[in-house]
Amino acid sequence: MPKRASKHLRAPRPLAVGAFARVEVKADGEWMVQPMSAQAATKTYACPGCNRSFGPGVAHVVTWPRVAGIGSTSAVDDRRHWHTSCWARRS
Ligand SMILES: [Zn+2]
Repeated sequence: MPKRASKHLRAPRPLAVGAFARVEVKADGEWMVQPMSAQAATKTYACPGCNRSFGPGVAHVVTWPRVAGIGSTSAVDDRRHWHTSCWARRS
């Protein structure tokens, strides 16, 4: 009887952070964008788009450069929390 390849040998899934992130191209480069649900927003965040703080409990997007900026060890360190509408308006 031939042996079938096990389904358990597949590559592991990516880490939770970034698993649902998409890439968006803006005027200054490529950004990872991950929607955050109202339930997941447990802190107060400052939106760089309008300089107003919001949350907790406000659905928004988290963005970070696809490539780490100079001086930061990880692009994830450059995460910013934006109002969904402010991010959409950003060029
Ligand atoms: Zn905003």
